[in-house]
Amino acid sequence: MMGFDDLFLKGLDTLGGQGRLRSCRSWHGAGPGLLRADDGAVLVDFSSNDYLGLRTHPLLAQRAQDWAREEGSGSGASRLVTGTSPQVARLERRVADLKGMQAARLFSSGWQANASIVPALARLSMQETGAPAIVIVDRLIHASLYHGCAAAGLRPRRFRHNDMDHLRTLLEQAKGSGLRIILTESVFSMDGDRADLASLHDLARRHHAFLCVDEAHATGVLGESGKGLVAGRADLVIGTFSKALGSMGAFVAASDPVCRWLENAASGFVFSTAPSPLVLGAVDAALDLLPAMEEARRHTASLADAFRKDMLRAGLDVGPSSTQIVPVLIGGEAETLAVARRVEQAGFLAVAIRPPTVPPGSCRLRVVLHAHHTHAQVNGLAAAVADACRGLG
Ligand SMILES: *Cc1c(COP(=O)(O)O)cnc(C)c1O
Repeated sequence: MMGFDDLFLKGLDTLGGQGRLRSCRSWHGAGPGLLRADDGAVLVDFSSNDYLGLRTHPLLAQRAQDWAREEGSGSGASRLVTGTSPQVARLERRVADLKGMQAARLFSSGWQANASIVPALARLSMQETGAPAIVIVDRLIHASLYHGCAAAGLRPRRFRHNDMDHLRTLLEQAKGSGLRIILTESVFSMDGDRADLASLHDLARRHHAFLCVDEAHATGVLGESGKGLVAGRADLVIGTFSKALGSMGAFVAASDPVCRWLENAASGFVFSTAPSPLVLGAVDAALDLLPAMEEARRHTASLADAFRKDMLRAGLDVGPSSTQIVPVLIGGEAETLAVARRVEQAGFLAVAIRPPTVPPGSCRLRVVLHAHHTHAQVNGLAAAVADACRGLG
């Protein structure tokens, strides 16, 4: 087949003209927390979401092998076809317990879970109330949740980020008998701030709304034993294994009826092959390690505190960050890219985040602190960022 490349090349050119063309760089592993570029330069990784360094932990690799040897490297089919092994059932139980919920279901990725949850809830609403679901979202929720709304044919009503008064107003305006759904995150991926879970819980109860909280950036890193922040204050919790848990895949934790509904109605569960035992073995090992990583969590938090203080001292804006994710807000795309380049020349990878990931004019370096960073590395990064920003004039 031929004849379409010109169209795609034109599309890429248009992106280039808008300064929005991206491509994946090549990297070589250079030890925990380090990356080596093609030219040999070694960078300290301040960008990945491997918060606890578990991505390269030997126990995860070992358990992945063990599970693959016992169960195979693939799962063969959707679990509705080939069923659930005792190992997977136990893992689901562990995840439900971690979140203090009755039950859980595993998915192959957080993106996939989020893209299928809203359509599944929307279907319940139509089937049982005859009315479309009403979806109310924090405007900064992850793209995958927006994708789920689009897949359900629903236009989400957006409240200003973390603005509980605005949420209350939207809930009061939500007329109709359809299921009301609130979507938010416990830690926001680009700002590193936290949702007000007590108020969300209270508003959801008061207005009879089904509260879904994505804990992608809290699971493993925050809360007692790395349980995250929700602590039972939501109807449904989503989490991913791909960040602090060092592997891949995701889960939804909720009541038993909610999970059984998803097992029947969530497209990403029904029509996708179940996660590989390789991956789930690694997750099982990560769950073993989490409770004893209190010191790693404390250290990560103290690095983030130190970095924020350094940035404020340099007159830079870190927004409302209160977690291991610290944005350094710069503004325009060109300046932000220039700063990221300077910081990289100094030996640190802190990637520039631009639209469409964040709203125009709020470009930033997204700095992520990891348990294996040292205070010296963080001081070095802070000096490089402050220097590069001064260089902007
Ligand atoms: C990363 C992320 C996801 C997607 O999870 P994957 O398992 O990487 O697909 C979903 N929600 C949020 C908030 C995320 O940051």
